[in-house]
Amino acid sequence: MCSITQGSPYYIFFSRFNKNEYDLNRNFPDAFENNSEAIQPETQAVKNWLKSETFILSANLHGGALVASYPFDNGVPETGTKRGHSITPDNDVFEYLAYTYSSRNPEMRTGNFCKNSVNFRNGITNGYTWYPLKGGMQDYNYIWAQCFEITLEVSCCKYPPAENLPNFWNNNRDSLISYMKQVHLGIKGQVFDVNKNPIPNAIVESNDRNHICPYRTNRFGEYYLLLLPGSYTINATVPGRTTILKQVTIPENMQNSSALRVDFHFPFQVKSNYNVTTRVSCSEVPLYLYFRSHSDRLKSHFIFFFLLTFVSIFHIK
Ligand SMILES: [Zn+2]
Repeated sequence: MCSITQGSPYYIFFSRFNKNEYDLNRNFPDAFENNSEAIQPETQAVKNWLKSETFILSANLHGGALVASYPFDNGVPETGTKRGHSITPDNDVFEYLAYTYSSRNPEMRTGNFCKNSVNFRNGITNGYTWYPLKGGMQDYNYIWAQCFEITLEVSCCKYPPAENLPNFWNNNRDSLISYMKQVHLGIKGQVFDVNKNPIPNAIVESNDRNHICPYRTNRFGEYYLLLLPGSYTINATVPGRTTILKQVTIPENMQNSSALRVDFHFPFQVKSNYNVTTRVSCSEVPLYLYFRSHSDRLKSHFIFFFLLTFVSIFHIK
């Protein structure tokens, strides 16, 4: 039994909107289309927090469905929209993360526990496949904050009564703990100069999964890449200087201990003024569209198109 039903006139107004009547999960910059919504104080606070810490893995919890949904929520043909989804270069990791959560929730893993809802195979879905949206936190975190985020819909009822909380805890406890442990997936390390000083803002990525806004080391020269077991070519680049490539094999069953440590040592000294304290990030414009106009000029083979998207009326992520 839901305390406020979806048909109630107060359903939206008293729930997901802030005092200024903005939907905060449509308020973030979007990588695929312009978002003209004025940035709200709550959104700005989250953005500042993301800049001040090195977040690796996160989730946002919702009600109104039972599914673990992974990026992207918005897209362009190059991310797969013509095939009905919009996936990241890290899609294998995201499917694994979502399944790590859903498979340990006895109701979510059935995929069809909620009546009058979509049947989600294994209790997971690509966000765009479910329904496209712009300005969500999930895509923002992945693209601009180097933080892998998924959306957890943990209740068929959007506003369940408090007496159901023990049941929610029991159904989600193992999922939450297992999900948090995944922060140890893949590899991590530091990038140093010849004097063993850490190099901030070096780009460190796996060669086959470049991010549209490259992932960079933090002010301690640290990087973290969530990757499944397998072999990768890791590219560490100090912009304007040089690149080091390393072949890395991540063994099975790493996630229960710690990520594999892989450091990079550059044979030169970084300038003192390079030692900035904030991580460089990309401008918060629709990067996929911006990238298209640049690549046209550079005669790149990348061609990006703009696709209008429609928001489903059945559920609001
Ligand atoms: Zn939701």
